[in-house]
Parts: sequence; structure tokens; C-alpha cells
Amino acid sequence: HELEKDLLKIKDSPAVTLDGRTIELSGNIETADEVQEVIDHGAKGIGLFRTEYFFITRGTLPGEEEQYRYYQNVIRKMAPDPVLFRTLDVGGDKLAAWVEDNVEANPFMGWRGIRFTLSRKDILRTQLRAMYRAAAHGRARIMFPMVSIVDEVRQALAICAEVREDLKRERYQFGEKVEIGIMIETPSAVAMADALAREVDFFSIGSNDLIQYALAVDRGNSRISYLYNPLHPAILRLIDDTVRAAHKNNIWVGICGEMVADARVRGALLLIGLGLDEFSANAYMIPEIKKIIRSITYDETRALVKKALKKSTASEVVTLLDAFIEEKRPELMEFIPRGPV
Ligand code: PEP
Ligand code: MG
Repeated sequence: HELEKDLLKIKDSPAVTLDGRTIELSGNIETADEVQEVIDHGAKGIGLFRTEYFFITRGTLPGEEEQYRYYQNVIRKMAPDPVLFRTLDVGGDKLAAWVEDNVEANPFMGWRGIRFTLSRKDILRTQLRAMYRAAAHGRARIMFPMVSIVDEVRQALAICAEVREDLKRERYQFGEKVEIGIMIETPSAVAMADALAREVDFFSIGSNDLIQYALAVDRGNSRISYLYNPLHPAILRLIDDTVRAAHKNNIWVGICGEMVADARVRGALLLIGLGLDEFSANAYMIPEIKKIIRSITYDETRALVKKALKKSTASEVVTLLDAFIEEKRPELMEFIPRGPV
């Protein structure tokens, strides 16, 4: 409690490194009730609104008006800061009662995220209409989860354009300048990041799934959880490739997976040095991330990343990071996680 109280003192300070690099710091939410908590912890926006919770906590599909009112409420509360809506991400571990025939042999490799919504365009259209209409009341961004091929993004963008045309024709007020992005959660999306970056306005790395698919480790299976490591050089290389492709194409790139919550200061130092423009995390993590950003220079984190990318194992990366923290920033030692990561 003491530590938390102390961290909250910088709640209204900017998330800027000692050498002046500003990182957009936003919060992850699953329901509208969590917005106040995000604001209270000093985030400047919502970086991941997991909209599926509105859909899976009930027996029937919500309609456009109901979704519009729900989204509008979040946008108004957060304005003028942005709210990043993720389109419905059901499948895998998130099953909705109203989806018929959802039993699959490999649900994480199956009918989830954008694959589901592109095959149920009625559901996607209704959700996009509600989001675009809500966007008229503040600042909204929209992103699609679980992208594995470029064709999916093109189809989704075409539906967004149709929805905007329909709303205009029907004389609705809607957000005309909504940025559209995708989550980077699959190794194929990383491999194709340069092509994907030419299609969209931003990337947000879903490290929870990216780690799962890159290391072929079920994120919920405790038997093999030793493989689930955000600091593995394989993961750092994938993030590095993603950031480079994004920046080469002049789009911004954030991360909304639980990487910092899991690896704490070790993860934060690496992600800053990898060049991420935005971090989105659960509200309780925001003050700690801000404190870390404000305690270091971008230059020294870049030097750390350069070395980390050459390591062969996650434990070598940990040794490198802990030596740096102990020697150069001992005040951050309290943020080193106890335990395996
Ligand atoms: C992720 O995969 O990192 C992510 C943010 O999405 P979710 O955890 O909801 O699958
Ligand atoms: Mg995910």
C-alpha cells in the first residue's frame, strides 16, 4: 500500500524518459465500469477495450442501439483521450453461449477473432456501426484481433468503408477520423508486418497470444508454463521486427498484452528500448510503468535491447537486465518480479 501510494504521486506527470521520449500510456478494460480506475491510475486513454465481455456475459447478442449507448458512455468518460475498441474477439478461451456449434478440437487455432467476425459479417457490421456512431462523441480507434493474413485486413477495411457509407447515407453522426489498426498476435503477422503496415494506421502487439503461438505453448497449460516467457529472445526479435516494419511505414505501434505485468521492470525496459510508441496495461500496473519510464533514458534501454537481441536464452536476458538495474538503477530493484519470469 505504501509503494502504491508513493507511485500515485506521479499520476498526473507525463510518461516521458529522462532524455525526452514520450510514450503513450493507456489502460486495458473489459467493461465500462473499469474506466474510472484507469483514469485514477494516470493513464491517458484506453489502449484495449476487450468488447467481447459485453457479448459473452449474456445469453443473446446485443443490438446496435444497446452497443452504441455502452460504447458512447466509455468514449465520453475518457474524452479527450482516445478509446481503442477491439472488435469482438470470441473463440479460443472466450466462448459465447449464443455461438452455435463452437466445439472445436483446437480452439486456439480455430474460429476466433477476425476469423469469426468475417464469417459472421452481420455481427461485425452491427458492432462497427455502434463504434463509429459512438466515435462522434470523442476520440475512437478500432482494431481487429487475431489477424494471420493480409486478405483478412483488406476484407475488414472494406466493411469499415461500407459501414461509413451507410451511416452517411442514413444521416447518422459518426466519427469520420477513426484510426483503424490490427493486433499483431501471430508469427505470420510479424513475418508480413511490412505488408500489413501499408494497410492500416497502427499496430498493437498482443503479446499474450504472440508468445503462445511463437513458442507453441498453450497460454493456459501449467505443465509447460516454463516455456511461456515474454523475455525469450525469440519474442524480443519478433517485437523488434514488428516495430521496425511499423516505423518504416510511418505508423505507430503499441503493446496491449500482459508482458509488462508479467515481467515488470525487465519487460518495461526492453519494450521502451524496442521503440514501442504506446503501452496499454491493466490499471494497477500504470503507475509502476510510468515510474520506470521516468527513471531511465531511451538511449540506455536501446543499448540494453541491442545486447538482449543477441542472447540465446531468456535467463541470459534476465541476467543482463538485472545486472543493469542493480548497477545503474538500484531504485528500480523493487520492481523485479520474484519467481520464474
Ligand atoms: C493478447 O493476446 O496479448 C491480448 C491482449 O489479447 P487477449 O489477451 O484478450 O487474447
Ligand atoms: Mg489475444
